[in-house]
Amino acid sequence: MFDINKIRADFPMIQNAKVAYMDNAATTFKPQCVIDAVTNYYTHQTSNVHRGDYDLSYQVSKEYEDARVAVAEFIHAEPKEIIFTSGASMSLNLVAYGYGRKFLKKGDVILSTEAEHASNILPWFKVCEEVGAVIEYIPLSNEGEMTIEAFKGAMHDKVKIVAMAEVSNVMGYIQPMKEICQIAHEYGALVVCDGAQSVPHVPIDVKDSGVDFLGFSGHKMCGPTGVGVLYGRFDLLQQMDPFMLGGGSNARFDICGNILLKDAPYKFEAGTPAIEAVLGLKAAVEYLRSIGMKNIYEYEHELRVYASKKLQELDNITFYNPNASTGILTFNVNGVFAQDAASFLNTKGIAVRSGNHCAKILIELIEASETIRCSLYFYNTKEEVDQFIEACKETTVENCVGIFF
Ligand code: PMP
Repeated sequence: MFDINKIRADFPMIQNAKVAYMDNAATTFKPQCVIDAVTNYYTHQTSNVHRGDYDLSYQVSKEYEDARVAVAEFIHAEPKEIIFTSGASMSLNLVAYGYGRKFLKKGDVILSTEAEHASNILPWFKVCEEVGAVIEYIPLSNEGEMTIEAFKGAMHDKVKIVAMAEVSNVMGYIQPMKEICQIAHEYGALVVCDGAQSVPHVPIDVKDSGVDFLGFSGHKMCGPTGVGVLYGRFDLLQQMDPFMLGGGSNARFDICGNILLKDAPYKFEAGTPAIEAVLGLKAAVEYLRSIGMKNIYEYEHELRVYASKKLQELDNITFYNPNASTGILTFNVNGVFAQDAASFLNTKGIAVRSGNHCAKILIELIEASETIRCSLYFYNTKEEVDQFIEACKETTVENCVGIFF
């Protein structure tokens, strides 16, 4: 069912990069079908969407709307609940400015965690500054994990928004979104979910989980850069304001400044979109569905358990999230600055990221200002994990000093 060699053959970068690519939380490689969809637009389909009175434009407009249907089906939403954005960052900013700024008041609380990516916390800081709302944080364990008990303990009547990642890009735990939504809804709060690291890796059903908003990026799920998605419950999208106006988003306007906006999702899509990226995202979603998200999750989980066990056997490593279930492994090599270690791993053909991973308030909790993050995807193999582990063994103070000084 899950033919890893066939899958790897779909990704030209696996051949071309000649590294064990383990920075998939940053961005993923693209299968040939996605590359073809993008180039096909420029080679055979170039025209604008929803604007031309000729076949080329009709056809590309239809395919653009088919992409909305494909994405909706992928997360079990309605097409009218899918807004194309430039990425998860724009999606989360859109909720904060479009919904938060309009409906939050002085004294309202946004409940979040210290593990959030900048894109899911900075927009809320800004909205709080403007409307007088405040952010409160759910206490996390020393391993950066949130329990349902801690969440329940942090909920109260003033919480209007719960903003959290379904999977943290540093700690890699999967949050039980269905339970979180049930509890939040009992208090009348809405749940804004950062799905940048969950949608590419785990099966998602927004109707089952009950999540109110979900933002994610195309490029982290085999799609092109420059496109992302905001899912929102349709009634909420209808109430919410766009933060950007322009061509395509309005039905009518007049010389006195009266504007009649279109219904969601179109009122949020002002201007010419990244058409080729949307078509590429459609191909990516179809590709992921052809493999099966359950298969992808299970394969990644198996790979993670394998890598986690091997990493724990090393005596030169501090491993911060041994119990997470996704493919994100966050660690340090004792005595070696994270960036030096990552650069050394690079000399061994391993591509990983070091730093604070845009989650700057988490580092105080795990007491490490910089970490190395290895993030796996379904095209990685056990052999690559072995190569990574061997390279970690060799990442010693002596070896790194020899290379960089
Ligand atoms: N949230 C999380 C958890 C992420 O990992 C990222 C990307 N690193 C983002 C949001 C932002 O995604 P993008 O840069 O594609 O907008």
